Amino acid sequence: MSTETKNVYVFGAARTDGDAKMKNILGGKGANLAEMCRLGIAVPSGFTISTEACTVYTEQGKEAVFKLIEADVRAGVAFVEQEMGKKFGDAADPLLLSVRSGSRASMPGMMDTILNLGLNDEAVVGLARKANNERFAWDSYRRFVQMYGDVVMGLKPVSKEDHDPFEVVIDMLKEKKGVQLDTELNTEDLKELVLRFKGLIRARVGREFPTDPWEQLWGAVNAVFQSWNNDRAKVYRELNDIPDSWGTAVNVQAMVFGNLGDKSGTGVAFTRDAGTGEDLFNGEFLVNAQGEDVVAGTRTPQQVTLEGSRRWAKLALVSEEERRTRFPSLEELMPDIYAQLLQAETKLEQHYSDMQDVEFTMQEGRLWMLQTRNGKRTGSAMVRIAMEMLQQGIIDEKEALRRVDPERLNELLHPVFDPAEIKKARSIAHGLPASPGAATGQIVFFADEAEEWVRKGKDVILVRQETSPEDLRGMSAAKGILTARGGMTSHAAVVARGMGKCCISGAGAVRVDYHARTMSIGNETWKEGDWLSLDGSTGEVYLGQVATKEAELTGDFGTLMDLADRYKKLAVRANADTPDDAKAARNFGAKGIGLCRTEHMFFEGERIKAVREMILSEDEGGRRRALAKLLPMQRADFEGLFREMSGLAVTIRLLDPPLHEFVPHDEANQKIMAHEMNVPLGVIKMRVDDLHEFNPMMGHRGCRLGISYPEITEMQTRAILEAGLNMKAKGFDVKAEIMIPLVGTVREFNSQARVIRQTAAAVFAERGEQLDYLLGTMIETPRAALIADSIGQQAQFFSFGTNDLTQMTMGFSRDDAGKFLPSYLKDGMYERDPFQSIDQKGVGLLVQMAVEKGRSVRPGIKLGVCGEHGGDPASIEFFHRAGLDYVSCSPFRVPIARLAAAQAAINNE
Ligand code: PEP
Ligand code: MG
Repeated sequence: MSTETKNVYVFGAARTDGDAKMKNILGGKGANLAEMCRLGIAVPSGFTISTEACTVYTEQGKEAVFKLIEADVRAGVAFVEQEMGKKFGDAADPLLLSVRSGSRASMPGMMDTILNLGLNDEAVVGLARKANNERFAWDSYRRFVQMYGDVVMGLKPVSKEDHDPFEVVIDMLKEKKGVQLDTELNTEDLKELVLRFKGLIRARVGREFPTDPWEQLWGAVNAVFQSWNNDRAKVYRELNDIPDSWGTAVNVQAMVFGNLGDKSGTGVAFTRDAGTGEDLFNGEFLVNAQGEDVVAGTRTPQQVTLEGSRRWAKLALVSEEERRTRFPSLEELMPDIYAQLLQAETKLEQHYSDMQDVEFTMQEGRLWMLQTRNGKRTGSAMVRIAMEMLQQGIIDEKEALRRVDPERLNELLHPVFDPAEIKKARSIAHGLPASPGAATGQIVFFADEAEEWVRKGKDVILVRQETSPEDLRGMSAAKGILTARGGMTSHAAVVARGMGKCCISGAGAVRVDYHARTMSIGNETWKEGDWLSLDGSTGEVYLGQVATKEAELTGDFGTLMDLADRYKKLAVRANADTPDDAKAARNFGAKGIGLCRTEHMFFEGERIKAVREMILSEDEGGRRRALAKLLPMQRADFEGLFREMSGLAVTIRLLDPPLHEFVPHDEANQKIMAHEMNVPLGVIKMRVDDLHEFNPMMGHRGCRLGISYPEITEMQTRAILEAGLNMKAKGFDVKAEIMIPLVGTVREFNSQARVIRQTAAAVFAERGEQLDYLLGTMIETPRAALIADSIGQQAQFFSFGTNDLTQMTMGFSRDDAGKFLPSYLKDGMYERDPFQSIDQKGVGLLVQMAVEKGRSVRPGIKLGVCGEHGGDPASIEFFHRAGLDYVSCSPFRVPIARLAAAQAAINNE
């Protein structure tokens, strides 16, 4: 890095260096603090150390980066001193600082924050005198020692049951004094806490708590840089695809105090509802509290708006009288501050034209904004906010489409509790509907164990007193999260919404005993492993397993899909093998079936017997007799597909997998088969042995089967065309497409095409009627892609089988790659799993080449994709650019693909 690079950017009333566009170097928080200053919103002055400095820290270490930024940091502190009229380290009237992380992408709670930095035994006296409030000064001091001890000095719990060691000390003191709340501790108690905390640090860490403010500041800056690579931050990045190379910025800012008494406080608010998307300003605050108290979820916060407060009271079963007296809204309690906050939130939402999540502090009747960012939201809130902002003229159609992450639509497609079942279920508790969805699972109390249970194939509900960022992996693994404490903006709630995970927070009646591994309500107790069902949309906790039903796709979701269809160029079909799948796919908006894998029909009920009979047959005659039994069943399957997809294309692929997949490999089942088929076990064993291949994926499969046994192709063709004619006679509009798998040479294609055409001619002659159909092929061997011009002269359509094309191009077995791919991805050999997201440079090149070659010989050739990649947004963007006509994916991914296809079109205009 050159020495001319700017490392520190100040923001304040007199000067602001950065703005919202500089997220890459200032991080989201730093860039938005600068932007708020520019908008004239009251923000405590400060400076941001750039993410580039973090990169220097990671690459060259602490000394190198400190040398690089030291002078700038000193100048930054001098700027803040000037702005605030106080001196850092002044014992009589100290300037105190907050030090916070802030990367390009928001990572709520994942990295570290330190407040009240600059306090020591002398400064606390000065602060007390200056604020004329001794209790406040000592409360600030004890918070500082607690945070610094944890974050910078590394004091950690000794066991997971004893959670936070400082909180244990506080609880002990409260017990000794016979008080319930932190706020009931007096100045002398707080002094004692500071002493005890320092003693605890000395004993456990083996170092004294630093008294020099500058030493404190450098320690904190170092800790923030270091926190970029802490475990939970890494997990969060992994879950959210955030590159390790980005680094975090460090925001150093003058402290404002929410713990200066009854006219002070701190809160978090959203310009719209992050759970449902409703256009309703909402938020939570705590009086006489500081910083992380709201998100920590250890005190029950009050609501910012009167409307929100009334709704909350209803959910929390609090009477209007109690609400007004014990939990009044900010709107009622501090109308002036509320008016300022409302003005700021309106200005911010308009400025950013997106839902904002803001943090604020009130200090003795004055409002300070500490943060604004685009708020995290559930999938359904994402859709509703985008559609309403479009209606409100805040954003245009294209922006509305860009605002929804296609993957997040998954959440709207998930099942909900069946209302009939809910009526029968027993509700045992009620909490805040922190993140919607329906979840059923077994109670587990610890995040690491939740992961463990899930690994064993269990569904779990993570039940916690409150959650902390360490619980991230367990939260991600769990079906749902239930916490006893915390509001709608508690860690659990924010993180769960970000993950689209069902969550109920602040279920006050629930008592968790980590030692006994039980949860109680009143005098009933449940233990680890008991079943619970959570309705994250209502906040209701039910006992046992409640059955679910499919979600309905109406309202804003429907509007979004219609909008997507207007912009997208790619058609979206579904991979569907049964009439039920086809029906689901059509409901999700599929425009046809891109792949029906006929082999799936061979496993059902009696059919497998006929299939096995065919496999065991010694000669063609035997095989034909067995196939004749299969014919009516296949025909009925296809009739169902044509009925459901009337008017839309249905691509049916001929038999593809190697025959060994249809025979049992263990002796017990071979015995059953021998008995059923009335042949000796030895015969079965011999045939199974015959079918054994070292690499069946590259073995006797695909069109190679049809070439060896043309009677299979004949039977399937007959079933397709007879079904088509039958359904046509009933008035359905049949558009059949017959597809030959795994072709590598033109002769292979022609050989199968001849069988198909001859069979068709026979069927049409018997029936005295024709059916139009297309005859095409999969492009799934690299050779097929390379000679696509020759194949295109024969085939009427190509469907890229990108699963096999990936397997054969990369030389990775689809079945075995799981053994090394995860570590390969971790080591950065590939950025993404090539079986999930198409390898654009390699496999993609073959696709592009085949598209060109195919069109060069047959301009109107129909081109689609039916591998798994057809449902992956990044791959869809690639297929759009490659100029395909359609993608085909599993029915549940159809809406995701529709939106992704629209985004691809908009982004490549
Ligand atoms: C493919 O190979 O991409 C494909 C769709 O076929 P299958 O997954 O059935 O091999
Ligand atoms: Mg394939």
